[in-house]
Amino acid sequence: MSTYTIINPTTETAVRDVALADIAQTDAIIMKAATAFETWRKVNPGDRARLLRKFAAIVDDHIEELAQLEVLNSGHTIGNARWEAGNVRDVLNYYSAAPERLFGRQIPVPNGIDVTFKEPLGVVGIIVPWNFPMPIAGWGFGPALAAGNTVVLKPAELTPLTAIRLGELALLAGIPEGVFNVIPGKGSIVGERFVTNPIVRKVVFTGSTTVGKQIMRGSADQVKRVTLELGGKSANIIFANADIEKAAAGAPGAVFDNAGQDCCARSRILVERSVYEKFMSHFESAVKKFRVEDPSLDSAEMGPLISAGQLARVKEYVPDNSEVAFQGSKPEGPGYWFAPTVLTPKDESDRAYREEIFGPVVSVLPFEDEADAIRIANNSEYGLSGSIWSRDIGQAVRVSRAVEAGNLSVNSNSSVRYWTPFGGYKQSGLGRELGPDALDSFTETKNVFFDTQA
Ligand code: NAD
Repeated sequence: MSTYTIINPTTETAVRDVALADIAQTDAIIMKAATAFETWRKVNPGDRARLLRKFAAIVDDHIEELAQLEVLNSGHTIGNARWEAGNVRDVLNYYSAAPERLFGRQIPVPNGIDVTFKEPLGVVGIIVPWNFPMPIAGWGFGPALAAGNTVVLKPAELTPLTAIRLGELALLAGIPEGVFNVIPGKGSIVGERFVTNPIVRKVVFTGSTTVGKQIMRGSADQVKRVTLELGGKSANIIFANADIEKAAAGAPGAVFDNAGQDCCARSRILVERSVYEKFMSHFESAVKKFRVEDPSLDSAEMGPLISAGQLARVKEYVPDNSEVAFQGSKPEGPGYWFAPTVLTPKDESDRAYREEIFGPVVSVLPFEDEADAIRIANNSEYGLSGSIWSRDIGQAVRVSRAVEAGNLSVNSNSSVRYWTPFGGYKQSGLGRELGPDALDSFTETKNVFFDTQA
């Protein structure tokens, strides 16, 4: 059996080896999930709800342990990691209300009664990236289990530790064997098998746009259901009438949080030309103050990148001749550190401005007026997230309707609330997670007509 050595990105030291599943092992666990589906789907809605609440309570009891594990495995700041573990608990609690509320409809028809049912799909495969191992896993397995499906979940090779622990906690909570299965392994083996094995009825994929397209192509063979959460290059649009100090103070966190390894990172800042200098001066002091340090410290605002490979990839975007306006700090010594970096590209053709870097690098561009801001914001193949800073309510409404992105915030940089739908326009994805509608992605609507004339 092959193994993968987990490296702590803060110290560059080995944490432990994790066994990687091969195709036969993957198929065996998928089969186990298929068997468990036959009983899980029949568990009374109230009992399924109780089990999910118990799972949430057990996660709550282990928040600190899960958070410390994420700091060790992923270099997330401890503050973020606690939020991430808490998000798994919250998502489980939110969807624990679903089994008792999976309503169908009764539709008036002639000569009979017509009823719709929300039926579970069967085995759902969830493929998770390394940037937010806990929340992204929970956004998949929470609603999937609530709707009566069983789950096979593949964490990213680099970051399997919290997912493995969540699998153990599910059993501790009384979720029956085979209902929630975590399978560490390679994308090209375990992940691809989720696509090709016909027992898996749906794939939920979060990761790069390139792999997402492959999954969509592969799923076509079996008309397999897919939800895709892919890349982003989101715009932070700052109008002259906005609270410039507030927008500038929030801008580092909006892009450098999680070392920029966030699909919602506001990695393009668009500033109305008349306030460009003012914004840049406040932004510079905020970037210089941004605390990049040992992520286990409560004061840390940013830790290292996830791996040597990711560090090399980010460095490529900032060659020596880059238009660097200013940079923040980074610690010396071991660890995959990259200082927060602000670029001022000449125009929109710049590679670092156009492509998703997935590191702490942001490009700032001035714009002339509202129409120009909208045009520049939409000039991207992506459409995941974004912020709009304006004190003019009409303008905020107009611009938020015009920007082609799935999750926008006005005078705020918050992207994720588990009560509300999350997902992308254009090449940022397909389908929505979280919120009340996510359950539709984990059920089939069945329509049954009862003839009352017979
Ligand atoms: P990735 O696409 O390489 O890997 C994501 C997951 O897919 C991993 O678990 C990997 O093992 C698996 N995988 C790789 N090849 C596969 C294949 N051929 N078949 C099936 N599974 C396969 O991405 P990554 O490097 O882990 O994550 C970074 C990327 O993810 C960024 O581009 C980022 O924008 C994107 N992302 C998007 C969101 C979102 O919600 N939209 C969230 C997080 C990350």
